[in-house]
Amino acid sequence: MKAERKREGAKRGRLRAERIFDGLGVSQGIAIGPAHVVEAGYIDVPEYAIAEDAVAAEQERFADAVARSQRQLKKLKEKSAALHGTAAEELGFLLDAGLQMLTGSRVVRGVERRIADERINAEAAVRAEIIQVAQSFAALDDPYLAERADDIREVGDRLIRNLTRTPYQAFSRVPAGSIIIAEELTPADTALMDPQLVGGFATAIGGTESHTAIMARSLGLPAVLGLADLIGAVHNGDTVIVDGSKGRVIARPKPSTLEEFERRRGEFERAERQLVGLRRLPAVTRDGTAVTLLANVELPRETEAAVAGGAEGVGLLRTEFLFMNRPDLPDEEEQYQALRTIIKGMDGRPVTVRTLDVGGDKLAAALDVQPGGANPALGLRAIRLQLKMTELLETQLAAILRAGAHGPVRILLPMVSTVSEARQVREILAGVVKRLKRRGTKMIDPSPPLGVMIEIPGAALAADALAQVADFFAIGTNDLTMYTLAIDRGDEQVAHLYNPLHPAVLRLIQFTTEAALRARIPISVCGEIAGDPRYAALLIGLGIRELSMAVTALPRVKQRIRNLDLLAATRFARQIMDQSDSGRIAALLDDFNALA
Ligand code: PEP
Ligand code: MG
Repeated sequence: MKAERKREGAKRGRLRAERIFDGLGVSQGIAIGPAHVVEAGYIDVPEYAIAEDAVAAEQERFADAVARSQRQLKKLKEKSAALHGTAAEELGFLLDAGLQMLTGSRVVRGVERRIADERINAEAAVRAEIIQVAQSFAALDDPYLAERADDIREVGDRLIRNLTRTPYQAFSRVPAGSIIIAEELTPADTALMDPQLVGGFATAIGGTESHTAIMARSLGLPAVLGLADLIGAVHNGDTVIVDGSKGRVIARPKPSTLEEFERRRGEFERAERQLVGLRRLPAVTRDGTAVTLLANVELPRETEAAVAGGAEGVGLLRTEFLFMNRPDLPDEEEQYQALRTIIKGMDGRPVTVRTLDVGGDKLAAALDVQPGGANPALGLRAIRLQLKMTELLETQLAAILRAGAHGPVRILLPMVSTVSEARQVREILAGVVKRLKRRGTKMIDPSPPLGVMIEIPGAALAADALAQVADFFAIGTNDLTMYTLAIDRGDEQVAHLYNPLHPAVLRLIQFTTEAALRARIPISVCGEIAGDPRYAALLIGLGIRELSMAVTALPRVKQRIRNLDLLAATRFARQIMDQSDSGRIAALLDDFNALA
């Protein structure tokens, strides 16, 4: 006990000192603001009486929440094992304490008893039990045990969050400029962030190309992920710096650190402003080759910025936003209205609507899709799910066809792996067209182009066959890299191995591009590398003329293209394709970009 108390004293001292955390910078820029620690946030606890015959089911619901909480703590423990020194020790201690409290403890037994005796719902029982246990600790007037009371409250909050399944509050009540600190944020949580209120965020769990990272870039929020030692080390209201460019988070900065980062933030913002002048200029190489720059849109509110930023259309509309943060499914009318707003907002520019891509790390509660199986990324997701739940696909296709009456649209299918999937969708589409015609509904005529994402290695290798059934290709390098290299794009533990410059990935891009060019169908790249100016020369050299990216990435990519020479880019791509080592490829890429 003495040693633990000493450690607690030292920890308190550290909690006031500046602390630096290094992780994965996933969205550029610097944000400075007060921490808003999600775990400490306010949770609405529903309270209601339950009938006697509902007691067993309620206890089971509680057991589920306990199991889920245990899984989360174990996952965090795995991540924290990679840390060094006292940080790992402290965090391990905290997580162990949490796990103990969830394993047949007084707290667990107390909640079960309350559900049975008081006939109240599990959330209310958890809250009552936690208050009582924490109060009995706090009453002992011992600073060490008082801290344990905090740990108990934390476990209680976790249980309630898992019971209510409302992961986090909507961030709508946070002070302006807040830095959100959380264990993990789903893409749906991130979609709730208003950049007017939230300055940036940092999490313990999450990889570079996770959809949470993509959402951060879309919203233009500086973000750092994969910081296991963050948990418990930052408190509400602490000043926090998030350097999304360098992947660094600094809590409670010293005045000199703060000053340095304020200066760097100013520099970053000045550089961004300088790029604004490029908006109206065309994306052409020095020798006059035009490249079409399109926007990836995650949320309808981005449309205005896409137009203002000079996007020539939407190359990828991720329709998952329609299905996020809700318990039910949007009907055809609701989807139509949302799509119409976006299409009208793009003012005559083409909008590529991708059908629902849930599964993997993108879960829609309303669909009751479970991550399922040992490998959710290989499971029932995207087009596979839609071909199983055809009504869902039909509804979405009908909404797209109707919205297409207000501006040019294209339909894009996610995660296609076989020719027959594309054929099946074509048949379903024809059926929907017929039905709408019978109904006399106004819609796009003729039917819009139907394209497929090339994001599975098998699809890339069968690109010539797919080109016979698809009207266009969009290469999704995020998933293509993940599936080719067997690296989970959302797992920070293997993030250092995630590499779109691996020769295998580049060969698949080349193979797909050549197949599309031979079949004379349009091809674009809409994975995250399209928005990274370092890749522009290589992609253009390989024959790509359409790039779709986060709106915030448009100016820098355009700037790069305007400095390129097509012949040099083509020669460079050829040189790269002769390489077998991704380290050498990265070095050549840097050299080329430094010169040209
Ligand atoms: C991709 O996989 O590259 C892609 C664009 O799709 P998403 O990131 O939505 O999976
Ligand atoms: Mg994908």
